[in-house]
Parts: sequence; structure tokens; C-alpha cells
Amino acid sequence: MEYKTKNFFSKLKEFLNFSDNIVIISHQNPDGDAISSSLGLFHFLKKKYENKKINIIVPNNFHHFLKWLKKSNEIIIFSENETYSIELIKKANLIFCLDFNSMLRTGDLENLIISSKAKKVLIDHHPSPEIEQFDLILSKESASSASEVLYNFIEILGEKKLIDKNIAECIFTGISSDTNSFSVNSNSLTHKIVSEILEIGVDKEKVQKNLFHSFSFDKMKLTAYVLSEKMKIFPKYNLGLISLSAEEKEKFNFEVGDSENFANLPMSIKDIEISAFFTNYKDFIKISFRSMGNFNANLFARKYFNGGGHKKASGGKSYKNMEETIEDFLFYIKEFLNN
Ligand code: 5GP
Ligand code: MN
Repeated sequence: MEYKTKNFFSKLKEFLNFSDNIVIISHQNPDGDAISSSLGLFHFLKKKYENKKINIIVPNNFHHFLKWLKKSNEIIIFSENETYSIELIKKANLIFCLDFNSMLRTGDLENLIISSKAKKVLIDHHPSPEIEQFDLILSKESASSASEVLYNFIEILGEKKLIDKNIAECIFTGISSDTNSFSVNSNSLTHKIVSEILEIGVDKEKVQKNLFHSFSFDKMKLTAYVLSEKMKIFPKYNLGLISLSAEEKEKFNFEVGDSENFANLPMSIKDIEISAFFTNYKDFIKISFRSMGNFNANLFARKYFNGGGHKKASGGKSYKNMEETIEDFLFYIKEFLNN
């Protein structure tokens, strides 16, 4: 589904006219698309509106494999700068929300944003946005990434000519990241945009190297460990899963983002079409679901694990222990596949 608020362009112009304090926000545990789309918008707005104050705030920190992006050092991490972040959100007259469809996804920022009087503009690609939480919505489920929708946003504003190397690099990085280097969720429109973006002069190999070939030795060893010791296959359901406890993470000096691709690993096995990755966070188990066939990962996560996402990639939470969570998961899979 595509959501575009009626008179999007004129309302956006109006909001931008009266806003001198703008905040860009993305979701908790920000991934490549979250960071790239936010930074891309940041570069764009800075270029177009030299006199406005523009800041990016994310709920918590992000992985070093994204910290090479220009100006990523200016991103404010809420969990590390609470007072300053609160001050900025209170002062904001316009908040851009990138790469999420519900304020719930912003963790500890949720209530602050909801209670803010600022106008809220959503730029996203997740299905079923919480329409009432936003004043303006540009959301395209068929888009590969929020970064692709950001390109559409700039296009709607009639400002494609402002896309320079920095903005192009962000858009390319977000798309590469959410499509797992163009292996999933990219369509001909995505590639058309990428083609235009590359012409602006993105160093494609640099981006790919930073995103996919900059692992620490510990992360590689952790990957080897989960593959050989922690992956379970259930051929009956074309299913593979991996679980990882807090103790195991500690053993491999785990850093945020080190398990980023783990949910996809079982998918490389022939006939596996559903995969899940379970890992302990402080108070809950976070689960990532991936699908390659007809299995709707979004509906499954919503129905059983209080989560959501896309048809082919979703996530949810469990408040039980690991063993019980996996037991529940297998029970639900059986039920879901039989219906
Ligand atoms: P990941 O497994 O990489 O964390 O997330 C995959 C997709 O599912 C992302 O698009 C993300 O936004 C979504 N997602 C992950 N966890 C949750 C969750 O707890 N709730 C919802 N609604 N979406 C989630
Ligand atoms: Mn995304």
C-alpha cells in the first residue's frame, strides 16, 4: 500500500515555512536504512534551508560500520544525551520520522514525540502506518527502503537537482543495506533510482566494503560459532533458526550490530524459506523473522510476538526464557502454517 497525504506538497511547504527548528528521528537499534535515510534528509534540508536548525536524534547507538557516513558523528544518541535531546524535541516545530511506522518503534522517545506539539512527517516503507500519529505521510510499501522513499520525497519537492554526492551516498547506502546488497526487496524502480544515484558519483565499492566487509575478527568468530553450534534446521517447515544468549555474546565481545545478518544465515541453505533469530536483550528476547516464500513474516510477528515489519523481514519480542520462547515459536509456526 502507498499512503500519501492529500496535498502533501502544499502542506509540507507550509510546515517548512514556519519551522526553524527541525528534528529528524529514526527507530530504536537504528540499522543502515534508518541512519542513511535520516542523514540523507539532513544533508538535503541543510542544503536547501541554510538558516534552519536541524538535528538528528536516534533512541540508542548504532554500529561502527555506519560511522563512516558523512556527518554521522553529529547524530545525537538519546540514551547518551537525554537532557539535550529532550530540549531539542521540545523546541522543534517540525519532526521528520524516518524508517518506522509507529511511534512505538522509537523506544524511550515515544512519549516525548507523541506529546510534542511539532508537526510530524513520516517518510517510510513499512506496511500499515499508524496514520493518526502523523500530520503528513509519505509511505510506500513497495519501496526497498526509507532511503528510496526519501528520493521520492525530494522528487515530489521538485528538488532532484539538489541531490549531491553526500545525499546520493546516503540513498545508495540505505538501499544497499535494506536489500542486503540488492538480493531482496529491490524492484525495477529501485534499480532505476540507483542508476540515477550512481551517475551522481557514489563510490559503490566503498559503500559495499564498509557495509558488508568490515567485520571484526570477533564477529567472524561469532558467526562461525552460531553456524556450527547454534543453528537448527526443521526441514518439515522449511525452517532454520539460530539462538544466541547474553553470555555467548559476551564471550565474543559483542558490539551492537554484530548479529545484524544472523537472521538471514539459515536462508542460504537449500529449501529453507523461513528463518528466525533469537537473542537476549536486557528484559526480553528479541526475535527476527525472515521469509523467502509465501510465509508472511509481518503477520506472524504481529499475531504471536507483539511485533511487525515487512512481509519478508519482521521482528518481535518474547518475555519468556529462551527455551520456552523457541518452544512457543515452533508451536505457533505449526499453527500458522496449518491455517
Ligand atoms: P530486524 O529483525 O532486522 O530487527 O527487523 C526487521 C524488520 O522488522 C524491520 O523492518 C523492523 O522495522 C521490523 N521490526 C523489528 N522488530 C520489531 C518490533 O518489535 N516491532 C515492530 N512493529 N517491527 C519490528
Ligand atoms: Mn528500512
